[in-house]
Amino acid sequence: MDQKLRIAIQKSGRLYDDSVKLLKDCGIDVKNGINKLRTEAENFPLEIYFLRDDDIPQYVEDGVADIGIVGENVVFEKNRRVTAVEPLGFGKCRLSIAVGRKDDYTGPKYLEGKRIATSYPVLVQRFLDDNGIRAEIHEISGSVEIAPGIGLADAIVDLVSSGSTLFMNGLKEVDTVLKSQAVLIRNGNLDEVKLALLERLLFRIRSVKKAKN
Ligand code: ATP
Ligand code: ZN
Repeated sequence: MDQKLRIAIQKSGRLYDDSVKLLKDCGIDVKNGINKLRTEAENFPLEIYFLRDDDIPQYVEDGVADIGIVGENVVFEKNRRVTAVEPLGFGKCRLSIAVGRKDDYTGPKYLEGKRIATSYPVLVQRFLDDNGIRAEIHEISGSVEIAPGIGLADAIVDLVSSGSTLFMNGLKEVDTVLKSQAVLIRNGNLDEVKLALLERLLFRIRSVKKAKN
């Protein structure tokens, strides 16, 4: 039986367009799959699963998908046993600390004893531990930037690209916890057939990246 490589990509959101475009640039025709859970490539042994980005590391660890495209921020936060094989050059952002525009942030020590709202509790806790700081982490799943304004937190740690969302909410970016971009991840136990397919795909991805430089 002919095996197919199964790739998990974001169903919709900031990584969707670039993920599909990367496959197309690799010469892989993806049947239009939005609002579907999965689709197949026409001209490459590839099956595509559309998932929430947060779920992708687990699916790849469990081997439900062989490979996936997801932000490094999610890979590190979820801490699953997957291997990052290739940075993809899109989805670039920073996981940054922001405080009120008038607050006097002097360095990580500023956070001692403070309340921090974030969707990335694991990465924030690691940052605090690395800096020997104790603070209270409030995990919230979205709209983190409104937390200081409604008195829920003294600082936030959130993904930033331009900084305009922070600005609109009266906040300023003061430190960066992690720089991130989209990466290709793989399951640790692929058989030889899948590994060969992955190598074929990687060869194309690297050619596409080279052509862009
Ligand atoms: P899902 O519904 O799949 O859970 P989401 O709302 O968690 O989606 P998106 O906002 O679509 O996620 O972001 C997906 C990824 O895009 C982020 O995890 C991050 O790696 C990347 N990204 C790039 N720039 C930004 C930005 N300015 N803000 C948020 N994420 C960004
Ligand atoms: Zn998500």
